[in-house]
Amino acid sequence: ADVDPPVTSAFRRRRSPAPAPPQRVAEILADPGFGRYATDHMVTIDYTPERGWHDAWVRPHEPLSLSPCTKALHYGQAIFEGLKAYRQPDGTIACFRPEANARRFRDSARRLAMPELPEDLFLASLRELAGYDEGWVPEGRGRSLYLRPLMIATSTDLVVGAARDYLYVLVALPSGAYFTGGAAPVTVWLSEEHIRAAPGGTGAAKCAGNYAGTMAAQARAAEQGCDQVVWLDAVERRWVEEMGAMNLFFVFGTGPGARLVTPQLSGSLLPGVTRDSILRLAHDLGHPVEERRVSVEEWQKAALTGELAEVFACGTAAVITPVGTVRHATGGFAVGDSRTGPVTVALRNALTEIHHGISGDPYGWMYRL
Ligand code: PMP
Repeated sequence: ADVDPPVTSAFRRRRSPAPAPPQRVAEILADPGFGRYATDHMVTIDYTPERGWHDAWVRPHEPLSLSPCTKALHYGQAIFEGLKAYRQPDGTIACFRPEANARRFRDSARRLAMPELPEDLFLASLRELAGYDEGWVPEGRGRSLYLRPLMIATSTDLVVGAARDYLYVLVALPSGAYFTGGAAPVTVWLSEEHIRAAPGGTGAAKCAGNYAGTMAAQARAAEQGCDQVVWLDAVERRWVEEMGAMNLFFVFGTGPGARLVTPQLSGSLLPGVTRDSILRLAHDLGHPVEERRVSVEEWQKAALTGELAEVFACGTAAVITPVGTVRHATGGFAVGDSRTGPVTVALRNALTEIHHGISGDPYGWMYRL
């Protein structure tokens, strides 16, 4: 009796037995934080080699029941995505560039020898969940519904090798500001001891193991009074890769002619959707943009001469975060005057206005859910 007929031909629905009361949802949406509360529902889709992707469900957000021998828990065949849906001025909900995440999810799957989820199924899962949990999308600038697609290996033989069976899960969590400091510049720790990814490794994939390896470095950064880790290349510990779970941009010079430089896709850094969007936005705002290698030495020198006016990090969760101070084992330096620079502010505003449908959708980046 708790099973509804399918909404689309692909998805069946098991209704949440006790959805959160509207009063509770309103309280949560008033101060959602990040990653603290999940919505009422989730999507699951199974995969077997025989049947391909099958049994697509929208069902209550509830614990998964997994054997302790589940391969993902042992060998780390687990990939995920992160993207946001925003309430639009007309009350509808739109997601920022989900096709790009669907593509990256497939790329990650391929790198981890997992089955690729077709992009139309990825998009359909977002539409389905947003349809049921529509009331969980907050209003207001900077607020969104964070969507977290996940795929894990569910086979239970403990032979080291790619699994046969997989589970796709989509959960959603209302989200406010990511860094509690809001827009204040962060202090970063240049990690010379730990590295995040190496040539030939999985750095360009969004897989769980990439994050597990970063926790010790993040703890080290915190001990040094820093908010975030900046990752360097594995071979020379000389080239800047990314910051925490965000990509980096360097702003040389000031005014309309300011140049933006971001580390090139080395194969060991994650190709961010926000990074790609900012390259396009900055170019169209008249800034020359460059993707190339940036060394720590260049960063420090240009910061000291003042040629480097601003540095910011970008990613789905926090959108754009200014970087103020850099610390490393033998010293540190500051970029700019510890305030958020004008180019950073302009890009953040431009992007936020697109997210919230304030300035229209000039690039066709918003996908109606
Ligand atoms: N680098 C890493 C390691 C990340 O986890 C993320 C977040 N997905 C990013 C960069 C930024 O990517 P995006 O703009 O697609 O969120």
